[in-house]
Amino acid sequence: ENRNIVLNVNGIEVIYNHVILVLKGVSLQVHEGGIVAILGGNGAGKTTTLRAISNLLAGERGAVTKGSIEFRGERIENLSPADLVKRGVVQVMEGRHCFAHLTIEENLLTGAYTRASKAEIAANLEKVYNYFPRLKTRRTSQAAYTSGGEQQMCAIGRAIMTNPNMVLLDEPSMGLAPQIVEEVFNIVKDLNTKEKVTFLLAEQNTNMALKYADYGYIMESGRVVMDGTAADLTSNEDVKEFYLGVG
Ligand code: ATP
Repeated sequence: ENRNIVLNVNGIEVIYNHVILVLKGVSLQVHEGGIVAILGGNGAGKTTTLRAISNLLAGERGAVTKGSIEFRGERIENLSPADLVKRGVVQVMEGRHCFAHLTIEENLLTGAYTRASKAEIAANLEKVYNYFPRLKTRRTSQAAYTSGGEQQMCAIGRAIMTNPNMVLLDEPSMGLAPQIVEEVFNIVKDLNTKEKVTFLLAEQNTNMALKYADYGYIMESGRVVMDGTAADLTSNEDVKEFYLGVG
């Protein structure tokens, strides 16, 4: 198995509004071809960690004040989200962020590189439809009138249009019925296996995330409090008691 580290987050601190220390030295690694989950409850710092990696903190008046973030050996803290996309790193934000007034297909096309040829774009679109058959049937529907699951698929599909190497997924299960969550995660797994897309996802749904991820980090109050393989975490008594709702 290939255990090359592609993303190395090393001791980052994040401060909001110059005063609120939210991440208190977070370190995590993502290996090539992995599905890695950041777990933990509301306000633990999962979203902030993803935003730090994809450099989306500025809009929230947040900043990385300590530590480093490397993607394939290159420091990326100062790269714009657009430069990150060029390097293959793309984030799907919490809450699905489709353009409500555009059709599903128009939404997907907004993810395409402006410099890609028409043929490349068409091929990418077919690839996305191949993984998300539901989106194909809804291609001409305005996003606002599609289901929550379809909008989540649309948001992930749009990210896939950029030919990513690593996708950061923020709370993909949010607001979705369990069987739709399974459907979304199955597609993530499929993209991981067949397209070799690496995933780093933030999830409150520990049960579901550990079914699909191979490695997990559990966060509490801005710190990683435990990490391990999905198998180890699933069988850990503390994890069972506090995060899996059994025990
Ligand atoms: P959730 O699942 O609710 O998104 P989370 O684990 O992703 O939780 P974060 O959203 O990263 O947690 O929030 C971590 C902490 O940072 C929380 O205490 C939150 O109130 C605070 N926080 C988040 N965004 C901001 C902001 N823009 N300004 C100030 N504080 C913030």
